[in-house]
Amino acid sequence: MNANIFATFEAIAREAGEAPFLETDDGQVLSYAQMLGLTARYANALTRLGVTPGDRVAVQVDKSAQNFCLYLATLRLGAIYLPLNTAYQLGELQYFLEDAEPRVFVCAPADYPTKSELAARHGVAHTLTLSDDGSGTLRALAAGESDSFTTAQAQPDDVAIIIYTSGTTGRPKGAMLTHANLLSNGRALTKLWGFTDKDVLLHALPLFHAHGLFISSHCALLSKSRILFLKKFNAEQVLALLPRATVMVGVPTFYTRLLDQPGFTAASAATMRVFISGSAPLLAETNREFEQRTGQIVLERYGMTESAIIASNPFAGERRIGSVGLPIDGVEVRIADGDDRPLAADQVGGIQIRGSGVMKGYWRKPEKTAEEFTADGWFRTGDLGTLSADGYLTIVGRAKDLVISGGYNVYPKEVEMAIDALPGVVESAVIGVPDRDFGEAVTAVVVRKDESLVGDGIITPLKSQLANYKVPKHVHFVTELPRNAMGKVLKNVLRDTYGKTGT
Ligand code: ATP
Ligand code: MG
Repeated sequence: MNANIFATFEAIAREAGEAPFLETDDGQVLSYAQMLGLTARYANALTRLGVTPGDRVAVQVDKSAQNFCLYLATLRLGAIYLPLNTAYQLGELQYFLEDAEPRVFVCAPADYPTKSELAARHGVAHTLTLSDDGSGTLRALAAGESDSFTTAQAQPDDVAIIIYTSGTTGRPKGAMLTHANLLSNGRALTKLWGFTDKDVLLHALPLFHAHGLFISSHCALLSKSRILFLKKFNAEQVLALLPRATVMVGVPTFYTRLLDQPGFTAASAATMRVFISGSAPLLAETNREFEQRTGQIVLERYGMTESAIIASNPFAGERRIGSVGLPIDGVEVRIADGDDRPLAADQVGGIQIRGSGVMKGYWRKPEKTAEEFTADGWFRTGDLGTLSADGYLTIVGRAKDLVISGGYNVYPKEVEMAIDALPGVVESAVIGVPDRDFGEAVTAVVVRKDESLVGDGIITPLKSQLANYKVPKHVHFVTELPRNAMGKVLKNVLRDTYGKTGT
């Protein structure tokens, strides 16, 4: 048995043959058989450049069918795929090249002059180019190669991908995911979400993050589904394509933007078997509106780079709005206190996980890896949540963002939801800043619609809605919240900015 996940994909793709695999925005259709041919050519080309199992292939390009096949080709030859966010600039890229030491780096043709020079300085043997239409030096190299390639043997524990976390709470860490991690997650989700060869998956996520790279795409590959592969999310385009799709995956903003389209109705979602959301909290209010509009509840799930999907609402059973559902097959979840002792149902504590989806460790960070695992082998996700008596998991926020004011725990999300509902507020972020009396003082950083809203306009109405210890002591107005390349709010930056003044 070959534990290389591509060996499993290959066997299925051979059965699928000429069935369509990827259909891109520009109307090109790549069959399963063509995918096998293209991945073989890429794998042969990379082998010719000296890439061997265990080598890293770092890729920072716009989404395309060729980019996705390059990912599959890297798996096929047993090397390690390393996707990089296209928003990362040279200084950031330098960190990843130094840390990961890839043998090959692939970038957009326009970036070649600067990035190849940087890569060469960091020991990268070859920099190739790939544009979003598939052209570039990779294509030229692959053109002369054979379209057959013997998929490399891999052990279950061999690393298939290194994905850097989003860098929301600090410097991104490279999570090492093995072939076994990916296969167990893929199989569990294919079954749970009910994928079959009749499905058409609408895919508008980027490929540099776990969510877009492999969560749903592996379900499609394991079930011979067709993927409608869109370069970017565009609400009008998605709305127009929905009648051809049966499954959609996305981040919460995809769904709020769809709801902003007046033409988005139950009729437009009539062929849709399920809408799935993750990567960030889906507001209960958004999901209720979605249900009113379409008659369907968005299926929310929870995951992280370090372990792919952890929990998901069921496809057939109760989809509980505001909860991320039940632990998936092969993953155990517990809620623990600060000393890693399990807590009872409905008590807030650290979410800890164990099972076949959990990463092998952080790339070249053995101390960091050791720190995040408990003595009895559970991984500390860094998120806080509760488990209900019937097993549903609810996330209340990140441990690092918890504010402890006057000895009371304040969960920022609760305060942010109250602030965001006030008139004149666009959005907000709540942090704790050091305070002599309270230990930490609840502080709100708010984006307002216009300058007529002042601090009292936030504090006064909140006093009648929240316990006093949760009401912000300080309010700062900003024109926008600092975000990372994944669009997540950087609370550590806000803490640095407002922590010192305490005003
Ligand atoms: P870093 O670890 O570098 O600080 P990050 O944690 O944002 O960055 P990711 O692995 O991309 O990096 O994100 C995983 C996190 O996203 C989870 O730990 C959780 O906080 C959040 N998340 C994912 N899905 C959901 C969800 N459905 N609801 C709420 N939060 C979610
Ligand atoms: Mg994280």
